[in-house]
Amino acid sequence: MNFALGPGNVEDLPPALDATTRQPPQTDSVAETESVFRERDDGLKTNLLGLNRKAMEDYFRSIGDKPFRAAQLLQWIHQRGIDDFAAMTNLGKPLRAYLAEHCEIRPPEIVQSQLAADGVRKWVLQVDANNRIETVFIPEEGRGTLCVSSQVGCALGCPFCSTAQQGFNRNLSVAEIIGQLWVAQRELGAERRITNVVLMGMGEPLLNFDNVIAATELMMDDFSYCLSKRRVTLSTSGVVPALDRLAQVSDVSLAVSLHAPDDTLRDELVPINRKYPIKELLAACKRYIGKDARRKVTIEYVLLEGINDSPAHARALAKLLANVPSKVNLIPFNPFPNSRYRCSSLETIARFSEIVQLAGIITTTRKTRGVDIDAACGQLVGRVSDKSKRHFRLQATA
Ligand code: SAH
Ligand code: SF4
Repeated sequence: MNFALGPGNVEDLPPALDATTRQPPQTDSVAETESVFRERDDGLKTNLLGLNRKAMEDYFRSIGDKPFRAAQLLQWIHQRGIDDFAAMTNLGKPLRAYLAEHCEIRPPEIVQSQLAADGVRKWVLQVDANNRIETVFIPEEGRGTLCVSSQVGCALGCPFCSTAQQGFNRNLSVAEIIGQLWVAQRELGAERRITNVVLMGMGEPLLNFDNVIAATELMMDDFSYCLSKRRVTLSTSGVVPALDRLAQVSDVSLAVSLHAPDDTLRDELVPINRKYPIKELLAACKRYIGKDARRKVTIEYVLLEGINDSPAHARALAKLLANVPSKVNLIPFNPFPNSRYRCSSLETIARFSEIVQLAGIITTTRKTRGVDIDAACGQLVGRVSDKSKRHFRLQATA
């Protein structure tokens, strides 16, 4: 186990995990584990996995104990990956017994684990009887990025996104969001560290605001995952009022899914643009960055053949971003069954990149990873019990 250790005395902690609860990383390409989700009958227990520092302190106050217990619990849970209160040896025995009776540490259950040819891992996680989400780990030289989901499905209906085609069911809880890190870190074991987190999995994080904020606080807490704000990136399709709220409470790195340089095209590709058009969105980006000259917003731009990938689009994009402290991340489109778009050619991508670059904007092209296990951007589907019935609306309007 190699959970990042934050400050605090952890020398006296026992070795993290025992062989019965901790599996080594799967080495086969697909490992289907128990796929029947067990509804728990002890639903009254408090799931401590979902409590950030403040909520944990409040919990200990509420049971008449000291708030400093919060730091101890966070270390056991998130840094050591422990889910057994009996193993928490720096807590007194009566407290351990109390916690075992009233609390639990319950992550989402892994129902499938896949390893791509390029080392990308994808886990399908069961979050309740009807719903599954997906989490992806992308190893790179010197770093490991976990792509985390924030909702079961997504209601925003971007036509090039596979998650959208699933419809939307519900927001993920804090435990289900941070639980993706907890599970991934446990599965990856000591040899692979999660150094970066991107909220770029299923869902629109700003539409699950409070839970996403609490989870990102845990990601950055010195007693939990201890990631710096530069290493936690929230990607949004542009929910402007929530972006302004985000600026008040957080300083995570920001990525914005622009995908089009004008409102007519963006209205079609990112339908929330009809509510919050480009001008308002970019103004909110600038407000988010504030006066910090070192910060930049990452502008995501998926390249769709013949739709948004011409030199004229590239020039318009560069013009649009001239006064926005930003860098551009071009994303080759990842196809999925029945998708109506195609990925731009390598030449088109290179030409687009060069035009934006020559305008003085740092431009990178995202490497497509994990495509053989449907783990690339926009390919995550999980299994969504669509309460919004968006799935049927989409079919009806197709
Ligand atoms: N809802 C948020 C975060 C999740 S989507 C958002 O839209 O930003 C993460 C990124 O994947 C977004 O930039 C999204 O536009 C992109 N994406 C979605 N579908 C894709 C696809 N099929 N191919 C490539 N990128 C895609
Ligand atoms: Fe939702 Fe993002 Fe997919 Fe659009 S791209 S449907 S906002 S997850």
